[in-house]
Amino acid sequence: MNWQWTPASSVLFLSAALAIGTAVGLFRRRAIPGAAKLAGTMLAGAWWSLAAGLEATARAMEAKILFSTLEYVGSGSLAVLFLLFAFDYTGHAAGLPARRRALLGIVPLVAVLLVATNGLHRWVWTAVSPGPTDLNSIIYHHGPAFFAILAALILCVVTAAVLLGLSAVRGSAVQRRQSALVLLASAFPVVGSILYALGQTPVPGLNLTPVSFVLSGAVLAIGIVPLRLFELVPVARAALIERMNDGVLVIDSTERIVDSNLAARQLVGVSAKDTGLRAGAVLPMWDTIAPHLRPDRDSHFELTVSETPLVHLDFRVAPLRRTLGTTAGYLIVIRDISDRYRAERLLHSANDQLQTQVREIQRLQEELRDQAVRDALTGLFNRRHLDDILPRVLDRATRDETEVVVIAFDIDHFKAINDLHGHETGDALLRALSTELRRYSRPGDVACRPGGDEIVLILPGSSTAGAAHRAEAIRRALREGSLIGLDPSVRVTVSVGIAAFPRNGDTPGEVLRAADRALYEAKRAGRDCVRVADSRVQGVR
Ligand code: GH3
Ligand code: MG
Repeated sequence: MNWQWTPASSVLFLSAALAIGTAVGLFRRRAIPGAAKLAGTMLAGAWWSLAAGLEATARAMEAKILFSTLEYVGSGSLAVLFLLFAFDYTGHAAGLPARRRALLGIVPLVAVLLVATNGLHRWVWTAVSPGPTDLNSIIYHHGPAFFAILAALILCVVTAAVLLGLSAVRGSAVQRRQSALVLLASAFPVVGSILYALGQTPVPGLNLTPVSFVLSGAVLAIGIVPLRLFELVPVARAALIERMNDGVLVIDSTERIVDSNLAARQLVGVSAKDTGLRAGAVLPMWDTIAPHLRPDRDSHFELTVSETPLVHLDFRVAPLRRTLGTTAGYLIVIRDISDRYRAERLLHSANDQLQTQVREIQRLQEELRDQAVRDALTGLFNRRHLDDILPRVLDRATRDETEVVVIAFDIDHFKAINDLHGHETGDALLRALSTELRRYSRPGDVACRPGGDEIVLILPGSSTAGAAHRAEAIRRALREGSLIGLDPSVRVTVSVGIAAFPRNGDTPGEVLRAADRALYEAKRAGRDCVRVADSRVQGVR
């Protein structure tokens, strides 16, 4: 084949080499979303540049036309791949089914078919005429199909540019810088194509379109290598935020949903379509969340959103501030803590049950303790309690320097009552007498039934005279009336002995003994009377 090297050839082959280099660099970073598609785009650019270079270098008209046709394979694929890259990079790919994206392949296919069959219809090139001989170029006279193909390709590139542009406007500061760079890169081919369509070119005979990709490639290469274009926010966004177990919800200052990740969508029931809508209209629990949006500080709360199955969520709300300090919106991080909450609940209920059981045990223990110190028949304290309490009462009285009076009651002729009315009546009498004595008791008094028909009252802080007065009142009341709940025919009288601490004894035994002696005196005096001990009891301990 006959070749002639021209300045246009050099530019185009250089363009092809740069495009291949960029593609290789991108392919090595293909794990990054969009990088593989952009590598493909660059390969298509390399193909296009190569074909254009060969077309510019070949001399024969047929060869030039063949390479021109091959250029369309590159340019068509490039436009479509660039659009697919934009879909991936801006996150729109998720919303577009792969089958629909594959339909874009029709664009380069139809373009190549039209160009290859130009000889039959001449819709792409109406005619081809030789250009200036020193430039080794030919002039293509463009037909309607050429402009249709060009329009389709420009449409793809412009759509991609718009997507990248929007992403630049909406993204964070870092993302914005990156998207602006990508946008700048994508502007070159658009400008190049338009200049080519208008027949404008800085180097005579040079097809500027593939060359514009040299610039694109260069800009992107700068973005990828030194600025690590794809490794920053878009990757972090996709890999980290979208796949995080915690839900992430971003609300702007007007309470509209700006962003949500997969977990947030699953946890609080928003959908990707709700982006841009008012949170209050979409989120059922917004009334609970809204009061926690504080521009001045972070806030934290928990919420049970469903009982069956149990869904308990932990919300952390942080204000997002602009550089000037105004609130741009709120970041809400939502964590599903149902398992922990369920365990806590179980623990609480087990704890409650345990507490109830402990309380019941304490109650039973108290009951047992009480039963141990009480007389079963009358409910008064028993001898054990008397022996226990009296020393303590006397100790206290010693400290307080007060008196303690002990009154001993004994039913007169109780044996005879038992014999006459029966043992049950005797028991009823003991119970009725206990109730009556309790009625006469004051707070702090202690009533005991140490045994048989004797009842002992301990009156801390009482005077002997006062106690004697009370004992006499009781004796008289019993004699004159009848006991409540008892057959009125059962007449009952009591004899009473009174002793005081420390006057009649220094020890519990001495005081009780003195009271018993006084009681004995009362019995000897004919019963139904009160006797006060008048001397000290010695030697009984
Ligand atoms: P007095 O005291 O006037 O000298 O004559 P008394 O018949 O009351 O004699 P004493 O106090 O010595 O007798 C106690 C009697 O009390 C003996 C017993 O039959 C009766 N007794 C003791 N404990 C009970 C009891 O729990 N229930 C009944 N029903 N009787 C009892
Ligand atoms: Mg008696």
